[in-house]
Amino acid sequence: MNAFQKTGMEQIIGSPEPSNVSSALIEMAGKRLGLNKNTIVELIKPQNIYIFRLPVEVFGKIFNVWGCVVLHNNARGPYKGGIRLAGDVDVWETTELARLMTLKTAVTGIEFGGGKSGLRVDMQELYNLFDIRTRSFDFERVVKRAIFKEYGNKFRTMLTSHTYIPAPDMGASAEQMTEIYNATGDPASVTGKPEGVHGWLPGRKESTGYGVSVAAIESLQHLGIEPTKAKVAIQGFGNVGSYTAYYLAEQGVKVVGVTDSNGGVYDKDGIDILELMDYAQKHGTIAGFSDNTLDNDQLFSLDIDVLLPCAAGHVLNGRTSKMVQAKAIVSGANMPITPEGMEILEGENILVFPDIVANSGGVIASNMEYSGSLSAQQKNKDNVLSFIKHTITDTFANILDIKAAEKVNLTEASIILAVMRIRDAMKLRGWLTATSCNFNELSNGNHKN
Ligand code: NAD
Repeated sequence: MNAFQKTGMEQIIGSPEPSNVSSALIEMAGKRLGLNKNTIVELIKPQNIYIFRLPVEVFGKIFNVWGCVVLHNNARGPYKGGIRLAGDVDVWETTELARLMTLKTAVTGIEFGGGKSGLRVDMQELYNLFDIRTRSFDFERVVKRAIFKEYGNKFRTMLTSHTYIPAPDMGASAEQMTEIYNATGDPASVTGKPEGVHGWLPGRKESTGYGVSVAAIESLQHLGIEPTKAKVAIQGFGNVGSYTAYYLAEQGVKVVGVTDSNGGVYDKDGIDILELMDYAQKHGTIAGFSDNTLDNDQLFSLDIDVLLPCAAGHVLNGRTSKMVQAKAIVSGANMPITPEGMEILEGENILVFPDIVANSGGVIASNMEYSGSLSAQQKNKDNVLSFIKHTITDTFANILDIKAAEKVNLTEASIILAVMRIRDAMKLRGWLTATSCNFNELSNGNHKN
């Protein structure tokens, strides 16, 4: 538990927020910037948490879904962040993900704040409830459709006022965003809408993976490695992992290993990513694609240039980080590295491209989708991808400067830049009383208290 955790919110929820990486990083950045304790608390704590129960009806049976919406900070724009549907979602995980969104939108200079929704759904329990014995994607689609329809109805006012603008996260996709749009009737109330639905954005579905591929190419160039001679491996082959693989392969990078939650594939000469995408589309997994398989530990141990965790959080920990042979880690997933893992990777001098920059392509595109939905003017895919590329490249240059000036790692540099921007906006809005601080003051080493 960090020094600032026992505030009113935890007293109401009844349990303190567990120690977490994003709070510790904000605390580090705040102290380095000379911010006072109250300001650091304001930066860490969410502004609102809604905990709710949704009664959902499917095939004549009603079951309850518990969930939460965490509105972390809207100093720089509307609360923005995806909806995660999983069996282990909880309020503190959702809070940390919302906080990461605030940091992500700030570090990339996107005019959004940060929020997140969590829907706690154990699919296996639902299979049991409906007495269904084998996995059925149709059943899961019907269930999700009903859940997201209720979610859209429940939060219609918050969504149509653009107070909070959701998007897909793990367990959700464009299809479920349509249900939210159906409930609100407002194309700007949600992003990540599928092709053809009012307010959709060409390039949105590819955007996060495309941005991760940009970050990987930037990392290779920074390390002086020619991308067409590079080998990479990817954990996760969902929305993020598959498009990351696609865009890297398109640029001549060899993707030699991929895993998902059911299995893995290895090919030292480079996997045919289009065929793998086709297979995953048909089978819902990459397992069974080839006889040359590998598991996550083997994936982490591969002798490659870049390792891309694009699945779950906390996968590179004190045990697995010791296996890493790659020269760089580019984080497609949110928070894939634990503090112990980070220490090991740093000790080995492995470049860690921070998650809040590497996977920011989705929220950058979401900002374009939101503005297109408001103006009823559609952007084209080339513009979207090119804006993502410039934003990530510029942000990488900014954080490299801070890293050099402040002698911190890249992750810390990204948080310092984000904290300065959020804090300055909060100050301008009259939410804080402490003195202002900006990038020039920081790079001159002239921090204010
Ligand atoms: P998704 O549900 O589409 O795909 C997740 C993939 O990870 C699946 O292939 C799944 O099988 C795999 N996976 C899960 N557990 C695994 C394990 N233990 N080992 C190997 N593979 C495993 O999710 P997504 O949208 O691709 O999101 C992936 C990550 O990226 C999440 O951390 C998410 O928060 C983050 N993220 C997503 C977006 C976005 O726009 N979708 C944006 C920013 C960050």
